[in-house]
Amino acid sequence: MNEAPPAIARPPLVIIAGNDPSGGAGIAADLQTASALGLHPMPVITSITAQDTRDVVSVHPLPASQVTEQLDVLLNDIRPAAVKIGLLPTVEVAQAVGRCLREQLASVPIVLDPVLKAGGGGRLADDPLARVLREALLPVATATTPNRFELARLMDADDDADPQTLAGALAQECACAVLVTGADVAADLGQPQVVNYAALADGERLQWTWPRLPGRFHGSGCTLAAALACELAGGAAVGTAMDAAQRYTATALSQAIAPGRGQFIPGRMIK
Ligand code: PLP
Repeated sequence: MNEAPPAIARPPLVIIAGNDPSGGAGIAADLQTASALGLHPMPVITSITAQDTRDVVSVHPLPASQVTEQLDVLLNDIRPAAVKIGLLPTVEVAQAVGRCLREQLASVPIVLDPVLKAGGGGRLADDPLARVLREALLPVATATTPNRFELARLMDADDDADPQTLAGALAQECACAVLVTGADVAADLGQPQVVNYAALADGERLQWTWPRLPGRFHGSGCTLAAALACELAGGAAVGTAMDAAQRYTATALSQAIAPGRGQFIPGRMIK
């Protein structure tokens, strides 16, 4: 047992995500966001990917037992202030993580970014994953951050179904706040503004409008979800946390870097 360290308030945040060697998305995005926002990030790896700033070449999922072993050992020592979940590459990993969180972290804020596809369009997860996320993960989550297409997959609906109606139904079904991001639709349609909606578990509805920055970004969804988890770890109410997380993400996007030949990467180490 060590001597007590000087008291520095750095709430521990569990990050459950895949590795993206470009540093744009996944573990690197979450580590940077949590560090910039003053938390102590604790990475639990779910998969190794080979990708660059353009697209994903391959995904190598870890066996579910190796993912839960990382979590079990960690949670035996440290109680986190919040959990952020990104890429769960297989049904087995998703079910095992859901079981582990239900049994061990029922009262800790959990943010689920339902990662189904990469920004470049590449597949990142098994097809039946959306159903498992809805049944095994969202009922234990405090908030989730789908884009419109991920929301449609989660709800088994058509891509053009009304996102506000779907978000309300999902929030009620899972008692989980749903923040639907509009950047993909705005970019596809060339719209000057991004509209994000939220349906909270108590029925409250929120909406934000942001100017759309030119270009495509890799890891913006990871950044937003990680920032939301950090805000919830600090005790913010979910609507307030969503607002702060979007502000942080907008600033990171405005400071993006272009290290490769594809998408921009958010500049997350904001002072
Ligand atoms: N996690 C990993 C490991 C990824 O590779 C990706 C996308 O490539 C994502 C998450 C999701 O990234 P984004 O924030 O761009 O939706």
